[in-house]
Amino acid sequence: KFGKDQVRTTYTIFDEELHSEKREIEMVEALKQAVEHMDGFYLTYQPKIHLKYRSVRSAEVLLRWNDKSLGQVSPGEFIPIAEKNGLIQPITMWVIETAILQLKEWKSNHMGINALSINLSAVHFQLEESNEKINHLFQKYHIDPNDGSIEFEITESAVMKNIDRGVEMVKELKGQGFTIALDDFGTGLSSLMYLKKLPVDTLKLDKSFMDGVPTIKKDNILLEMLVNMSEGLGMTLIAEGIETETQHNFLKKFGSVYVQGYYYGKPMTSSEFQRYLQDIITNNDQLSEQNYG
Ligand code: C2E
Ligand code: MG
Ligand code: MG
Ligand code: MG
Repeated sequence: KFGKDQVRTTYTIFDEELHSEKREIEMVEALKQAVEHMDGFYLTYQPKIHLKYRSVRSAEVLLRWNDKSLGQVSPGEFIPIAEKNGLIQPITMWVIETAILQLKEWKSNHMGINALSINLSAVHFQLEESNEKINHLFQKYHIDPNDGSIEFEITESAVMKNIDRGVEMVKELKGQGFTIALDDFGTGLSSLMYLKKLPVDTLKLDKSFMDGVPTIKKDNILLEMLVNMSEGLGMTLIAEGIETETQHNFLKKFGSVYVQGYYYGKPMTSSEFQRYLQDIITNNDQLSEQNYG
């Protein structure tokens, strides 16, 4: 009986592996097609909110892919595959260009938003000409990187692959005038070391940090320490993955922090986000009274 079960288990695992391998092969082909014509991709925007003033000045750009046959594929699945297959760079450049144009439109329509954050892949820091490609885009649209309108989100694991080179490239971006955020802060092994090495403007506390707040005392203490630390270092702090009113109320005591999470708004398509911004403009006074009256 034992033997039979074991055989069956082995087959099941084998089937699953085969299935996921097949899906990956399919996905590589579909991604190549998508990149060739840059179709099926679109951007979503998730608001970043200043807790004290409840203002939305910025949003994180989150890429989506809807393939004709595979349907909606999450970035957690397709980005690693794009990275492995030499497809991430054209995707990143498309994301940046699309975001630049979108922000331009929102600014000229006075939607109240003046900055966007864009995620950079680990592969960015392994390719010689990535920074230069970014610079070309900004020249093309006559945008001065120093105007603070674009922030790049990087992770320490992205830089870690080749530390010296990674640090060099981040410094170069910073030198070009871009704002740098350290994403998923607190999930890596040596976060504090990277804070010393990298020219970071913004710390993004990972959601896993916030999950225990405010019920787990240890997490609250760590949060308080990190708020003080970022203040002392002159960095902006943003807490990711805020989902509940309880978390929101607890965070209010820290005053000058930014927040991002489903509680405030999920990633939205550009037209959804535009409506969201329009609503804020319309209800501005009510909003601030409601929360701080
Ligand atoms: P990330 O940069 O850390 O982005 C935050 C992720 O958390 C997003 O998932 C966002 O939708 C999700 N999130 C935000 N608030 C909440 C919340 O309150 N609760 C929960 N459970 N989740 C929340 P998403 O959009 O699936 O993206 C996953 C990851 O894919 C991103 O993590 C980022 O590493 C990567 N990614 C997304 N877009 C791009 C892109 O344009 N380029 C690159 N290189 N990577 C991207
Ligand atoms: Mg991010
Ligand atoms: Mg993150
Ligand atoms: Mg992440």
